[in-house]
Amino acid sequence: MDDWKLPWDGSCRCGAVRVRVTKPPLLAAACHCTGCQSMSASAWSLTLTVPTDGFEVTQGETVRGGLNKDMHHFCPDCMTWMFTRPPGMDWFVNLRPTMLDDHSWFVPFVETFTSEKLPWAETPATHSFEKVPEIPDYQPLIEAYQREGVRP
Ligand SMILES: [Zn+2]
Ligand SMILES: [Zn+2]
Repeated sequence: MDDWKLPWDGSCRCGAVRVRVTKPPLLAAACHCTGCQSMSASAWSLTLTVPTDGFEVTQGETVRGGLNKDMHHFCPDCMTWMFTRPPGMDWFVNLRPTMLDDHSWFVPFVETFTSEKLPWAETPATHSFEKVPEIPDYQPLIEAYQREGVRP
């Protein structure tokens, strides 16, 4: 189970805020929705879902912003979009995996909102959803990711 070479450290672009992951991730995803396109200035956002008790901010403090101000955490200096804490789902944190000092291994396992994707935007995700998975779909996806997900 713990072949993930944890812990992982990471930071925003300027280095003012640092984070650490100490438990295996639950899921790796790319989201094509137009909101993520705007927030990421890119074709998709990337997410590594990690258990809340396996995630900590080890240096600095984030500020919150975005359309849902309670959710999205940014570096106050460089304004990098670092992670998201969805309200009412406090058992996980959606970390942007590009924060990790070494994120070269990251591969999205799931992609969401393909209904809104740019026509040329293709990812290697093996599970695609026009919007998001139904709630009962998550547990099998998490179990499949534990077995098959690409590790560092
Ligand atoms: Zn920063
Ligand atoms: Zn999205």
